[in-house]
Amino acid sequence: MKAKDYRSELEPVWCGGCGDFGVLKGLTQALADLEIAPEKLAVISGIGCSSRLPGYTRSYAFNTLHGRALPIASGLKLARPDMTTVVVGGDGDGFSIGLGHVPHAIRRNVNITYAVLDNGLYGLTKGQASPTTPRDVKERQHMAGAADEPLNPIMTVLAAGCGFVARSHAGNLPHVRDMLRQAITYPGFAFVQILAACVTFQAPGYATQLYDRTATLPDDYDPGDFMQAVAMARSERFFLGVLHRKEPVSATT
Ligand code: SF4
Repeated sequence: MKAKDYRSELEPVWCGGCGDFGVLKGLTQALADLEIAPEKLAVISGIGCSSRLPGYTRSYAFNTLHGRALPIASGLKLARPDMTTVVVGGDGDGFSIGLGHVPHAIRRNVNITYAVLDNGLYGLTKGQASPTTPRDVKERQHMAGAADEPLNPIMTVLAAGCGFVARSHAGNLPHVRDMLRQAITYPGFAFVQILAACVTFQAPGYATQLYDRTATLPDDYDPGDFMQAVAMARSERFFLGVLHRKEPVSATT
């Protein structure tokens, strides 16, 4: 099957230029690379712009409740371990209302992939600050800048013991494809943060600033070195790649 064969007949309602298009493309490419049969695929989400993504895939797609995609996906995978299970959602869905589920999904180590499309705001509800909005960013709904310190998604999942942690950028399709392919084949809970543009509500120039802060990992980087992963997660730069990979893995399913 080709990537296009993993698309449903629905046309995305995302704004033109939204980073979510890149993630949809990268995901369908990764699924085609792995030759996963659509009847053995479940794509689950919560609520938000990026959470519309399952409906655009040819899979058992479930657009669930705000922040509740992980427990639903975990239950599905435990009941049907033969299903490749991918969870997608935004930074608000996953790291605000859904945050309580993240460490528990990680410590249960159910074999699912969790991709967070991180655009640093709530796009569906008109651009409010999310848990990952940087303090100095002034957007339409918070013109004085976000009030609180942002949460660091990579540090959060590392601290919870996540065995596979990667970061990508929605504007770099081959990289998104590669990170999702590696995450899906990892035999345990895998987390991928995908930095994404919101062309409608991000401040002018923010997407460019974000992209300029990205960097590739050094050639001698060892994803098995946990403290190196912590250093990369705390960096001012957004290092792209597999930041942490724990072996061997003993997944629940
Ligand atoms: Fe994408 Fe932002 Fe439009 Fe939502 S509001 S579809 S995140 S560009």
